[in-house]
Amino acid sequence: MFLAWRKVPTVLVERHPGSSPHPRAIGFTPRTLELFRAVGLGSRIPQAPPDFRLRRARVESLAGKWFEESSWTPEDPQASPIEYSPCSGAALAQDRLEPILRDKAIALGADIRLETELIRFEQDADGVTVWLRERNGREYTMRAAYVIAADGHRSPIREALGIGRQGRGTMRVVRSVLFRAPLEKYLEAGVSQFQIEQPGLSAFLTTYGDGRWVLMFSDDEERDEPTLRTLVSKAIGRSDLEIELITTGRWELSALIADRFSAGRVFLAGDAAHTLPPNRGGYGANTGIDDAHNLAWKLSAVLSGASTPQLLDTYDAERRPIAWLRHQQIFVRTDYKAEAAGTAADAKIIDDAAMEFGQLYRSAAVLGTSDDLPPAQRPDQWAGQPGTRAPHLWISKGGERLSTLDLLQRSWVLLAEDERWAPAATLAARQLGLPLESLRIGADVRPSDPEALHKAFGLGAGGASLIRPDGYVAWRSSELPADPLRALTDALGQVSFAARRS
Ligand SMILES: Cc1cc2nc3c(=O)[nH]c(=O)nc-3n(C[C@H](O)[C@H](O)[C@H](O)COP(=O)(O)OP(=O)(O)OC[C@H]3O[C@@H](n4cnc5c(N)ncnc54)[C@H](O)[C@@H]3O)c2cc1C
Repeated sequence: MFLAWRKVPTVLVERHPGSSPHPRAIGFTPRTLELFRAVGLGSRIPQAPPDFRLRRARVESLAGKWFEESSWTPEDPQASPIEYSPCSGAALAQDRLEPILRDKAIALGADIRLETELIRFEQDADGVTVWLRERNGREYTMRAAYVIAADGHRSPIREALGIGRQGRGTMRVVRSVLFRAPLEKYLEAGVSQFQIEQPGLSAFLTTYGDGRWVLMFSDDEERDEPTLRTLVSKAIGRSDLEIELITTGRWELSALIADRFSAGRVFLAGDAAHTLPPNRGGYGANTGIDDAHNLAWKLSAVLSGASTPQLLDTYDAERRPIAWLRHQQIFVRTDYKAEAAGTAADAKIIDDAAMEFGQLYRSAAVLGTSDDLPPAQRPDQWAGQPGTRAPHLWISKGGERLSTLDLLQRSWVLLAEDERWAPAATLAARQLGLPLESLRIGADVRPSDPEALHKAFGLGAGGASLIRPDGYVAWRSSELPADPLRALTDALGQVSFAARRS
């Protein structure tokens, strides 16, 4: 979807006819919703109230005794009341979200081929040849400039490339039992995740919010349907309800990060690049969606001829540390601490707003970072630091109330107040052959609080912020330099890997 939105001709092959019968993810985070908003899906995905908090309780069973609640991140007494995003998260089952994304991708021109398996690929200096097989047995080849291996945690493509993985490793085999039952009354207290603890059953129970529930527990044996029904009834604490078993399956709970996120013209994304245990931070599907978003603008810039292929090296440089940061955050927190096996010994819990909106990219596509900066902070702490997502503030543009984030993503953006930046931007864009939109604070963009905007972006009256097409700050000049054109051309040429510059 992100590639098609950037007008990159895209073919997606999926060996199955549709989404997995087991929905898996349910929590999509505000940052993911920001990315969906940017491609025009804002109104298609129902969002949770802004103050929504995923609540989990330890219970004997749903109908039995409820013990204590546990939080994912300890409450921060100094938590800031700042509104960090125009979006809140969404509680939507993955099999309900995927068709929305698929339809949007098709509407944008993506060629989606279901029931088509990639069986082999070969890459050379100019492209990748893939061998595809349809379910009816027909085989054919296709030639692509690049391939994204979003082929899941077992990733046959990653394996064929010989890319290893590191991390906590495989922890155990988990069984999921998806069922439908009339249990709405147990959600009235606002808790939607339940850690079941009773003699003979230690399990996790949650709802997909649409009448479907899933029970998960460690399991290394085959079980027949009556046994599964008994376990579901034990978790509910009642045997008088009608339960429809929808599907069951076993999967490996693992935490593994690929050693490289690319090899030549092939890029790993999603679980192929990093599988992380399901967690309340939403570090599974959401991290993968962010990979795809990071890669899409880079591929689009390279394929359009604006940037040199070296820009693509920054994908691994930016996304692999994020996968590791999330791996560490999972094992330093209460839910998985006991299973960390020493993997996150040096890690400290980072607050949720920092993880969600304030992760730092350090790469050659950013100027002005250093090794001593923390891996994530809240946007108000960063104050427009290059390498972080541009902050959200409400502004008015042409009479319309927008988020600063709504101004981004279509091209490079230069945000500045001083009138000398606009001509510099026009000339720099022309010299480098890049799309660059110049937005003047106070004229094109009217903040409700000009001082707050300057502060959020870390700009003095003469300063400017250069924002990448993925909404990340690439470079900043806090004040007006002696030669704005030169400063901007140098910076933009470097961070964009402008093809005309090299
Ligand atoms: C029980 C459970 C609960 C979870 N809950 C959450 C949650 O609440 N929030 C969250 O963020 N994440 C959650 N996750 C994780 C999330 O589901 C995964 O991170 C996400 O599905 C990964 O997406 P992906 O596209 O990378 O891989 P997948 O969803 O695994 O998709 C890979 C696809 O590639 C296809 N494929 C593989 N090989 C080929 C081939 N050779 N040719 C054609 N097609 C191929 C497969 O058929 C598959 O459809 C959960 C996971 C589990 C197991």
